Amino acid sequence: MDGREHYTFILISALLPLFGVVAAIVLLWNKLVGPADMVAFGIMYVIAGLGVSTGYHRLLAHRAFQTTRPLRIFFAAAGAMAGQGPPITWVAHHRRHHRVADKPGDPHSPYHDEEPGLKGALKGLWHAHMGWLFERGLSSDPMRYCPDILRDKDMRFISKHFTWFVLAGVALPGLIGFTLTGTLFGAMTGALWGGLVRFFFANHVTYAVNSIGHYFGRRRFATPDESRNVGWLALFSFGEAWHNNHHAFPRSASHGMRWYELDISALVIRGLERLKLADHVIRIDRERQEAKALAWEKLGGGRHARSTPAKPLAERRTAAVGIVDVE
Ligand SMILES: [Zn+2]
Ligand SMILES: [Zn+2]
Repeated sequence: MDGREHYTFILISALLPLFGVVAAIVLLWNKLVGPADMVAFGIMYVIAGLGVSTGYHRLLAHRAFQTTRPLRIFFAAAGAMAGQGPPITWVAHHRRHHRVADKPGDPHSPYHDEEPGLKGALKGLWHAHMGWLFERGLSSDPMRYCPDILRDKDMRFISKHFTWFVLAGVALPGLIGFTLTGTLFGAMTGALWGGLVRFFFANHVTYAVNSIGHYFGRRRFATPDESRNVGWLALFSFGEAWHNNHHAFPRSASHGMRWYELDISALVIRGLERLKLADHVIRIDRERQEAKALAWEKLGGGRHARSTPAKPLAERRTAAVGIVDVE
């Protein structure tokens, strides 16, 4: 994504929602937020959130399950309505992130320039959160990272008309507002809350998984990156915040690996499976989790690993652990 297209993306993903929040705060001060706005916000938050988590991330980027064509289109369309970029671009950046997580080449690592001290840490966190979107040379080659998504004509269509899906993500809550209030003003504030304000909150939750999820939190697995599990972020991110689990087993349909690790996306996938709308759901049993955890303990994971791999991490991991994991 370069040039004009890139700046449209930045406008949508960063600036517009910010204006929306400012407008909403002004309206809130004048007590112009009603229950209809909250309903529009809630519905759109769930649609876009599942679109990103279940659709873009688990279905498209990691092929954690398979589903019917209409549902694949629905999830990708819902993901596009989140306004985080077209599916092809999103998946390319994300697969690159996994391939070189927290190493040079990772599009959004908080450790990208290794500056010392508090200032360096804040700079890194900002970069991982959303600073990376403003990088001039930001581009992950889809031919290299997601030829499968490129071959999918539905995904090409949604990517090509991405801006229309984002606009639909504003029009739809407007329609909800209109239906509930019967006024044009209700349609406008519905679009504001369910559209722009929702972009702001939902996107910052996703960005927080990339920034906080590689910085603060618990590590169950000594993965060769700095990924963390961030419990308090799990509900709002639909389970994406079990990020250390996810980096340990990227293809797993479930990111929560214990019964108490709330993972709404995984519940949705399980529900679809029960309804025979999803199959080939990737599950990692406890035995395999333990085996891999042990292997990584020996290897010494994380950024402070004992040795810097000379070979790409994937190759090294395969050789050392004997388990092949792509994306
Ligand atoms: Zn990550
Ligand atoms: Zn991932």
